[in-house]
Parts: sequence; structure tokens; C-alpha cells
Amino acid sequence: MSCAFDLDHYSELLDAAKQGGYRFAFFDREPQPRDLFLRHDVDLSLEAALELAELEAARDAHATYFLMTESVFYNLASPVGRAAVARLRALGHRVGVHAVHPNAGRDERFDPVVAWHNPDPEYMREPVTGAVNVMQDPWFDPEHYRSDSNQGWRHGCPHEELARSAFEWLQLLTHPEIWVYPGATMGETMRAMLDADRETRLRHLAADRIDLS
Ligand SMILES: [Zn+2]
Ligand SMILES: [Zn+2]
Repeated sequence: MSCAFDLDHYSELLDAAKQGGYRFAFFDREPQPRDLFLRHDVDLSLEAALELAELEAARDAHATYFLMTESVFYNLASPVGRAAVARLRALGHRVGVHAVHPNAGRDERFDPVVAWHNPDPEYMREPVTGAVNVMQDPWFDPEHYRSDSNQGWRHGCPHEELARSAFEWLQLLTHPEIWVYPGATMGETMRAMLDADRETRLRHLAADRIDLS
């Protein structure tokens, strides 16, 4: 099995979790044995988040999607943003806030769970008033955590360990953009995302009654 960052291997990761006897857990209770906390930080693309969300739901997998209110890349208050939140919920996923420190400001769109975007070590694991910080005790510890940051696994792709139940429980952070858009490196993947985004924006322009002739 090649550990490519694509949707085929993402599906294999979900299959491996099932094979290993894991259940999909949310951040509304403390970790228990066989819990798999699927966490997605949506840094760049709601379109990628929705594509991954559909794939997961079709496989009876459920995740918590962390969406930004201060992103330079997407607007959660736009019709597209509101529809994305509604669709994620309709698919059975949870929605948390991917917050930019120090503003953990949540509103009715979000469950009481926060993941900081690009956190500094000083506050990364500090509790947040009124919400769970996904990196606070007991939801985070390095033995029970894997992430795909910048299209690389610091401690290896977890599919094989998931399949043989090697983790007591796991918080698995993945970024939808990395899996949805093709590319052997983060740079290639980002350029593929931008190519797709051009088509998306052309459709938005047409919907906005811009003459594209
Ligand atoms: Zn793998
Ligand atoms: Zn982020």
C-alpha cells in the first residue's frame, strides 16, 4: 500500500480504522479506548472540506471540522460558507472553530470546541473558557496524535498501526486540501488547489451576473 496523500489512501485509512476496531469520537467527552478523533483543520478550502466530508459520510465515518471565521481564503458568512456548515452537519459531522489566537470567539454555528490555527507553544495546550481546546489534556498527547502537516507525517502514516489496533486511542489531524487536490509535494498540491479555485471563482462570477464573454 502506497501512502499517497490522495482520496484513495484516505479511504484506506478509514478502512484501517474500522479493521482495527476504532469508533469515531467527538470532543464532547474524554478519550476512551478505541476512540478515533478525526479532526480536520480547514485552513484553505471549504470545497475540499465538503468533498472529504461526503467521502467520510459514505463510509459511515464522522469527523469534527474546524472552520475559520478570520480566513483570508474563504468567507464563512457568505452563502457558500453557510451552505458548507449546513452540509457538514447534515452529513453527521461536528463543526468547531479554527480560531486565531487570542480570539476564540465562538457563536451558534459552532460546537464548544476550539482548535488554534498555527498556535504558539505558550498557549497551545492551555484550556479555553467555555470550550474544549483539542490540544489540552486529556485529548492531546504525543503518543495518541498524528498529523499530516505540510503533506508529511512526522511519525509516519498511521494506517498500519490503526489496522492492528496499535493505538489505545488516536487524535488524527488531517487537512482536507492535502488529500483532495493532487500533488506529490505540498507546493504541487497548492498549485492544483489554485487551478481548481480558478474554475470555482469563474462560477461565482457568473452567478454574480458578471459578463464573462
Ligand atoms: Zn498509509
Ligand atoms: Zn490551521
